[in-house]
Amino acid sequence: MTGPLGPVANCHCAFCRRVHGAAFTTVAFISPDTFAWLTPAESASRYRTPLGAVRHFCGRCASPIFNFSAPLELGAVITQSLDTGQPAPWAHVNTESKVPWLTIADGLPQFPTWPSPDQLRELLRAHPGAWVPQRLVEPDA
Ligand SMILES: [Zn+2]
Repeated sequence: MTGPLGPVANCHCAFCRRVHGAAFTTVAFISPDTFAWLTPAESASRYRTPLGAVRHFCGRCASPIFNFSAPLELGAVITQSLDTGQPAPWAHVNTESKVPWLTIADGLPQFPTWPSPDQLRELLRAHPGAWVPQRLVEPDA
């Protein structure tokens, strides 16, 4: 990754929970242009989601690594796949689907679904220098 990270979120949606086998997953959004494979890209396995995203995962151990959405011009690194420099999350998203036994008590902002463009802009203002996912912040532009 060669560019700044965008929003970092703990996602509690049912899909993330299922795919990651965990109560939630932490993703860092990045510009797809700033991501490159150090090993041949073919060594990653892919799953094309019905919404047009591509999930890349290790073909040997099935660890999720990176998601790419062409329609949203958005990359998302699964932060737990990073060897070092795991960024701290900014917020919890999709908390309406969180597991009932989990109590979130870290003081981070919580959003029942995905943050609205206004809410996302506010999060970005609190993190100057972060990459701005334009298609999420200005979906109608
Ligand atoms: Zn999710």
